[in-house]
Amino acid sequence: MNPLIGITCGQEQEGYSVTRYYSEAIQRAGGIPVLLPVTGEQILIEAYANKLDGLLLTGGDDLDPVLFGEEPLRGLGPVDPDRDHFELELCKLLLVNGKPVLGICRGMQVLNVACGGTIYQDLVRQLPESLEHRQRAPKNRVSHQVVLDSSSLLRGVLKTSALRVNSFHHQAVKDLGQGLKAVAKASDGVIEGVEKETGFVLGVQWHPERLWQDYEEQGRLFAAFVKAALRIKKESCS
Ligand code: MN
Repeated sequence: MNPLIGITCGQEQEGYSVTRYYSEAIQRAGGIPVLLPVTGEQILIEAYANKLDGLLLTGGDDLDPVLFGEEPLRGLGPVDPDRDHFELELCKLLLVNGKPVLGICRGMQVLNVACGGTIYQDLVRQLPESLEHRQRAPKNRVSHQVVLDSSSLLRGVLKTSALRVNSFHHQAVKDLGQGLKAVAKASDGVIEGVEKETGFVLGVQWHPERLWQDYEEQGRLFAAFVKAALRIKKESCS
C-alpha cells in the first residue's frame, strides 16, 4: 500500500545519474522509490503519470532558457533539452492529476517553469549582490539562513519559522509561475521555497536529501510528501 514515488534522473553519454540520497530519503519516509529514465515518448510519460502517486524532481544541470522565452546568457551552465522536456511534461501531468510534487534545487526550477515562471540563468552575473549560494562547506552541512512564510505549507511541515540550509545552486527562481507562492527566502531575497495553494506541490532550493540524517526537520519534508502521496493513492483506490 506504500505510495510509488518517481525520482527523475540526469543522463550521461551511456547511462543515467542521480545520487542515492533521494531514494534513501523516500524509502526511509515509507515510499517506494522508482528511478525514471529520461524519455521523449509521450505515451510512456503519460503511463508514468498514471502509475505514480508522487513525483520527486531532483537536482541537476541548468534549464534551457528557451523554455522561459530567453536567449542563453553568459554564465549559463550545461543544459539537457531532453531531460527538461521529460521533467516538464511529467510535472504538468502530475499537477493536472492533483498528485503531490516535490521539487529539489533544479527540481524547484522545473516546477516553476512548468507553471510558466522564469529563472535567473546565473545569480553571480544577474544578482551580483546576492549571497554565496555555492557553499564551500560539505554538502551535508548548512550554510545560509532561510525565513519561511508564516502561513505556508512549508512552515507547517518544517515546524519552524527560520532555519539554516545547504546551498549549491547558481540559478534561482525569478518570476513565479502561475499559482505558485514564494514561501521561503534567503536574506538576499533569493527565493528558496515555492508552493501551490492547494494540494502538496512544493519546491525547495536547498538539498534536504543531504541533510535529513543530521537535521531532523529536513526529514519531515519527505515524510509529509510521502504521506500526501499515500492519501492520493488511497483516494484513487476507493
Ligand atoms: Mn541558496
